[in-house]
Amino acid sequence: VKKKGSRYERQARPIEQAAVLGAGIMGGGIAYQSASKGTPILMKDIKDDAIELGLKEARKLFAKQVERKKLTTGQMAEKLTNIRPTLSYGDFDHVDLVVEAVVENPKVKDAVLTEVEGQVGEETILTSNTSTISITRLAENLKRPENFCGMHFFNPVHRMPLVEVIRGEKTSDAAVAATVAYARAMGKTPIVVNDCPGFLVNRVLFPYFGGFSQLVAQGADFQRIDKVMERFGWPMGPAYLLDVVGMDTAVHAGEVMAEGFPERMAGMGGDGDRSAIQVMVDHDRLGQKNAKGFYAYE
Ligand code: NAD
Repeated sequence: VKKKGSRYERQARPIEQAAVLGAGIMGGGIAYQSASKGTPILMKDIKDDAIELGLKEARKLFAKQVERKKLTTGQMAEKLTNIRPTLSYGDFDHVDLVVEAVVENPKVKDAVLTEVEGQVGEETILTSNTSTISITRLAENLKRPENFCGMHFFNPVHRMPLVEVIRGEKTSDAAVAATVAYARAMGKTPIVVNDCPGFLVNRVLFPYFGGFSQLVAQGADFQRIDKVMERFGWPMGPAYLLDVVGMDTAVHAGEVMAEGFPERMAGMGGDGDRSAIQVMVDHDRLGQKNAKGFYAYE
């Protein structure tokens, strides 16, 4: 863990204008957090309704702050202007740092990262919020891989303090420094980690999801597993956590992990079996994002 005043922060260039690509669960959360802590952010998606959902979520979170008397309605309105929704790359030439938060698919990420690199200045730091895909691998098609690193937030962004800053093979110290400083300006606790599929947290978490998925496939009751894990001391069990993460995202991330660590990812479908999580996707039970996962939501 790099404390304040570490060598990373001493080198950091301040981030005055940020951008996030994707206005989904994570993109919306990142936009809210940046806006809330005072860094203006462009929020780009390819779908109008995704932008609407991202903004609705941010408004809801700001309104809660007003309810708790932590913000006045005037302050809320002002902070909301820090989020600028967009469907185009106009104004990206003034952006200091971009967080890519589109779907967990290497091909889509490759296309989006190459596209955005052509729209920003030479000094702009590009980061990816990928859960699992190697940063060195994502840097392969970039012209300026030294300006690229991972910036991995956790869900829900406004509540989870940790951010993994992932150093790829060609990532420069300056890119790491700027990303660490931005994470801290967002009120988060950054840790700098080396690159591998899943980085640190998901390398531990996904084999756990695999174990859970195997138990369910063998007939175990998911609610009982959740209760047991809560009694074990975790704030929530794996079924509820998967509902929060999103089943489709977990399947995509599980595939990347199974490719990287086949021996550890039994239960996630890497061995050719359909995982219990994939079965949920087949039944369109994606989790909280569509109000039905292992549990049902209003
Ligand atoms: P999501 O499905 O909620 O949102 C993805 C968004 O990306 C959608 O709104 C989609 O319209 C948009 N999108 C797709 N292609 C695009 C493009 N070319 N340009 C702009 N927007 C585009 O997914 P999510 O859960 O927010 O996950 C996003 C990323 O964050 C993934 O890489 C995921 O692995 C990672 N992540 C997810 C979690 C989690 O718990 N869900 C946690 C940490 C990291």
